[in-house]
Amino acid sequence: MSTTKYIFVTGGVTSSLGKGIISASLAKLLQARGFKVTIQKLDPYLNVDPGTLNPYEHGECFVTDDGAETDLDLGHYERFLNFPTSQANNVTTGRIYKSVIEKERRGDFLGKTVQIIPHITDEIKRRIKLLGTKYKYDFVITEIGGTVGDIESLPYIETVRQLKWELEGNAMVIHLTLVPYLRASGELKTKPTQHSVKSLLEAGVQPDILVLRTERELTEDIKGKVALFCNVNIKNVIQSIDVSTIYEVPLRMQDEELDRRVLEKFNLPVTKDPKLEAWKEFLHNFKEPEKTVDIALVGKYVELQDAYKSIAESFVHAGCSNKCKVNIQWIHSESLTQKTVDDILGNVKGILVAPGFGHRGMEGKILAVKYAREKNIPFLGICLGMQCAVIEFSRNVLGLEKANSSEMDEKTPYPVIDIMEEQKNVLEKGGTMRLGSYPCKLEKKSHAFNAYQEELINERHRHRYELNNKYLEELKKAGMVPVGINPETNLVEIIEIPKHKWFVGVQFHPEYKSTVIKPHPIFVSFVKATLE
Ligand code: GLN
Repeated sequence: MSTTKYIFVTGGVTSSLGKGIISASLAKLLQARGFKVTIQKLDPYLNVDPGTLNPYEHGECFVTDDGAETDLDLGHYERFLNFPTSQANNVTTGRIYKSVIEKERRGDFLGKTVQIIPHITDEIKRRIKLLGTKYKYDFVITEIGGTVGDIESLPYIETVRQLKWELEGNAMVIHLTLVPYLRASGELKTKPTQHSVKSLLEAGVQPDILVLRTERELTEDIKGKVALFCNVNIKNVIQSIDVSTIYEVPLRMQDEELDRRVLEKFNLPVTKDPKLEAWKEFLHNFKEPEKTVDIALVGKYVELQDAYKSIAESFVHAGCSNKCKVNIQWIHSESLTQKTVDDILGNVKGILVAPGFGHRGMEGKILAVKYAREKNIPFLGICLGMQCAVIEFSRNVLGLEKANSSEMDEKTPYPVIDIMEEQKNVLEKGGTMRLGSYPCKLEKKSHAFNAYQEELINERHRHRYELNNKYLEELKKAGMVPVGINPETNLVEIIEIPKHKWFVGVQFHPEYKSTVIKPHPIFVSFVKATLE
């Protein structure tokens, strides 16, 4: 397509209505029609990126190939589109202000008064348009975080107003709201939607399409009322009814013709609906699994499952490709002690020890590794989980009492996990870990190679500590072997215990690369091992 089309997705009434999923679903439908589509998230908080946020705040931090620490919605975008996002796909208010203030300090504004309009809004515009001009997408879907009416999102809404004007027919706004059902009166209510559209209008933005979240079917009457009060054609009032899985939303949106309305709005030819066969097959396997399997996910943030979003979704994908449903048993690492471990992990068929930072819950994680190793239960350790596996093995097999990671115990006599050389002088916290995609060369005789069927892989990282190569020979001799090595730096990226049924620890995060169409081989192989 010669000119990029920009679609803005705003939200009203309440947060958590699923703007990210609606954006990803629309993107999926347009992509299935052969367009090049990307999705961008604008986050209205002042953190420069979500990398320094506690997972309890916004859930998992997602990492892209180019090493951006981003909002977890980018994970959904990638899982739906099977296409990588990048630094440019997530922008926070903090980042916008940082770059404007840096420009001001350099004197780039030539003495002008620097203001929200035009300087902040120009910077937002630049970052939106970059995806169209530099990366040449046909459609750029920009999701505006927060809810219309928040003070924080005002500069973004103002930018949308300006862009709609500036880009004329090449920009449109989809507004997602809620139509609540009042049980007492047995009615669906449109007033909150009317109010939120009013807020948008006050900011000068007329939505082109309204997507209404609802738990009950909307009648034509209700749609008509919304259309009338909100200046939107009734055809463009679209229902988004609650469904049992997010992966069903693209199909529902296709039924509701959301993609067709978008094409019409841009005066693009509306061809036949794409069939989405692979997606439907995935959904069929998801809804009708032939078996189920219980796998423990051991971590310290399990009260907030969003903290492990990509891992949970990877299990959905890997489960479907094994025609089974993975029942995740969410295990708080602090609940695991010598006394409780048998009760808690006694019935699971696989154990995953999750990524993490800091010493809280460490000993429970190490205990979970020991249990998996001794009982020959399939085990996957991710990042800190892999480090726990090395620590456990060093303590209980090599007999290195008090072996630890120097992150957890600076004075450990055996720092089997130690800070990476390049990290030693790093003082700033944000964006300074070993981040993003690095190559890894696999040993042919390994579970990892069996899974990937490739000798050279690329996986995403987010860590400061690493297996201490000083202990490598000792570990190898005792039966824990490195089967994946970074060819440039010799860092150990994967360890396995060949004598065990399936024991794999990975320093990288496979969960960031699992998608519906391409479930991650490590997860597929792990789930398969738990079924045998
Ligand atoms: N805290 C560990 C490190 O920095 C592991 C990080 C992680 O699990 N993402 O190396």
